[in-house]
Amino acid sequence: MNFAERVIEWQQAHGRHDLPWQRTRDPYRIWLSEVMLQQTQVATVTAYYERFVECFDDVQALAMAPIESVMERWAGLGYYSRARNLHRCAQQIVDHHGGDFPRSVDALARLPGIGRTTAAAIAALAFGQRAAILDGNVKRVLARHMGVEGYPGNPAVERDLWQHADALLPAVGIEAYTQGLMDLGATVCTRTHPMCDECPVNRTCIARREHAVDRLPAPRPVRSKPVRAAIVLVLRDESDAVLLEPRPPAGIWGGLLSLPEFDAEATREVVAAQTRARYGLHIAINEVLREVRHEFTHYTYLMRPYVAQVICASAVADSSLRRITEHEFQSAALPTPIRRLLMQLANSSLPLLA
Ligand code: SF4
Repeated sequence: MNFAERVIEWQQAHGRHDLPWQRTRDPYRIWLSEVMLQQTQVATVTAYYERFVECFDDVQALAMAPIESVMERWAGLGYYSRARNLHRCAQQIVDHHGGDFPRSVDALARLPGIGRTTAAAIAALAFGQRAAILDGNVKRVLARHMGVEGYPGNPAVERDLWQHADALLPAVGIEAYTQGLMDLGATVCTRTHPMCDECPVNRTCIARREHAVDRLPAPRPVRSKPVRAAIVLVLRDESDAVLLEPRPPAGIWGGLLSLPEFDAEATREVVAAQTRARYGLHIAINEVLREVRHEFTHYTYLMRPYVAQVICASAVADSSLRRITEHEFQSAALPTPIRRLLMQLANSSLPLLA
């Protein structure tokens, strides 16, 4: 048996068959799960996926939903551009494709947020098309099995891996093969402690033969990340609700609610003056909390939280700020580090007034 036949046979006997998005050929559900799984583990995705489809049952429902409720269902999954693209993609499918997903990889890959791998996974799993995938797990399996040196994020190495992925495709059984490759990477050929003795392709694996399993695929070259710092304002009104600001639609945490940000070097007086100018609110800053560190892929974000209270609002008080009470912290569309900070504050005995 060749590589693909062994993967297919193994998938049928030992692969995963009970994930909530598996017992369907509905491209909407397959697409949704693929997008959620792009940077997130299966265990985390399962609960989000089920809540999401409960709320948005099909592509029309998602296209018609306000972006705020999409972001609310996504909050906590991270990489929020995925949710914004999901929404735009649903709208394009309804507006330009009559509500039906296109069937070809090329047409799918032209939709927002659908790259080559996601397009191929939808085409293979929903429409039975012969198309190669190359997500992080599959890169690892192929880099080891084919003995591909170099960091897979490097374009030349990635090209090499795509060539292997295309060349290994089976003539028949694309659905089980595609699922099998994903399962193999997730459960057998894992990043640490791969179970080579259980692996269906171990007899032809170059990394195993050459004792290179531990060093393939090569890790990302180390590069020091820039640091970005900002003061963030935990601003409470007279009834103790926190006032949050919607982030612009594009960029980090786009479309989510977050704490108002100020220059990292601003003094208390400057923060208070800018709050008055921006939102028409007179405030008293009561506490300066310890720095909170959050790692993004490309930089480290250091937040310096100031805890403040609204003293009074002028007639021009800004209406874009949203009041969120303590029992809404869990359900509101907040970035995870902000939700964590607010919950820690709510549970601590930090005095609100100086
Ligand atoms: S033999 Fe080991 S390293 Fe090679 S593909 Fe299988 S699990 Fe991965």
